[in-house]
Amino acid sequence: MARKYNVAVVGATGMVGQTMVEVLMERNFPIDGLKLLASARSKGLRVKVGDEELSVEEALPQSFDGIDFAFFSAGGAISEKLAQEAVRHGAVVIDNSSAFRMDENVPLVIPEVNPAAVRHHQGIISNPNCSTIQMVVALQPLQQAAGLKRVVAATYQAISGAGREAVSELREQCRAHLAGEKVTVQRIAHQLAFNLIPHIDLFLDDGYTKEEEKMVQETRKIMSLPNLPVTATTVRAPVINSHSIALNVELQSPLTPEEARRLLGESPGLAVMDNPAELLYPMPLQLSGRDDVYVGRIRADRSVPHGLNLWVVADNIRKGAAVNSVQIAELLL
Ligand code: NAP
Repeated sequence: MARKYNVAVVGATGMVGQTMVEVLMERNFPIDGLKLLASARSKGLRVKVGDEELSVEEALPQSFDGIDFAFFSAGGAISEKLAQEAVRHGAVVIDNSSAFRMDENVPLVIPEVNPAAVRHHQGIISNPNCSTIQMVVALQPLQQAAGLKRVVAATYQAISGAGREAVSELREQCRAHLAGEKVTVQRIAHQLAFNLIPHIDLFLDDGYTKEEEKMVQETRKIMSLPNLPVTATTVRAPVINSHSIALNVELQSPLTPEEARRLLGESPGLAVMDNPAELLYPMPLQLSGRDDVYVGRIRADRSVPHGLNLWVVADNIRKGAAVNSVQIAELLL
């Protein structure tokens, strides 16, 4: 009989963790036992998983006794505190935080792009940043066909990337704004309802944000292109779920939009949705709940030799976090 595994989800009550549990079920991950872990606040909470009801436990070092796979989605501080404990107990950790992504001993993996990197893991494998994942899935076929010369990204990121409470805050901001009431700002830096905020994560000394820096450094690591010129502006949009990216790419050699369309459409994890005559292009509202990365608006950038413009949309909680994490674990089965 095929082997089954003991699996823990840390942050199981959160946006990513809940989706992680759903994705494990949808993909029939071979689970023997499933442990749902979160903070002490959620201890004892009953959660329906398939036909069963499981009780949430507090995540503690001893929680990982007997666990084979531990999916972490409770933020960097919890990963820093507990991931090595999980490894010490014999688990392979798949971590959604940024805590270990740039550690040279930790593979940073997108299964469609660099699956072989998992072989070098020493207990922890990092899931890349959500915007980075969807951008790199789209870049990989272009790199293979024509070589990347330079990448410029501008993101339109959904509030679900900031967690459960930020989603509730945006909903409340929209209601208050439309009712003509005072809009309350708590977890989000400003009013996001009917607005755009060009600021995600902390600012660095050079004026970039950490989110932008992640898109640069993680892309280079995943694609094994340490000197690739990449720049990004990351923007929070008043969208509940699914990130969008306006992507400008300069290639080493020519590639027509038609060739790019065919190539992207044939690549794993990618779907082309590009028919302006039919008003068909990817949009976050329509594509939430899907696992593929969608590409549209593919056209030549005539301002440079061998330039392309693309519009890339993906569900940041699914492909940007839960689905990519489960795919990483599947590589190890
Ligand atoms: P969320 O909805 O706010 O959920 C946070 C989860 O962490 C909850 O389950 C919470 O449990 C748990 N938690 C908080 N403090 C804890 C503690 N002291 N011990 C154990 N668990 C604790 O956040 P989210 O959107 O799911 O995001 C979770 C993480 O995934 C973040 O690090 C985020 O940056 C990352 N993320 C990664 C990607 C990606 O990898 N591409 C994409 C999106 C998000 P309680 O319910 O008990 O508070």
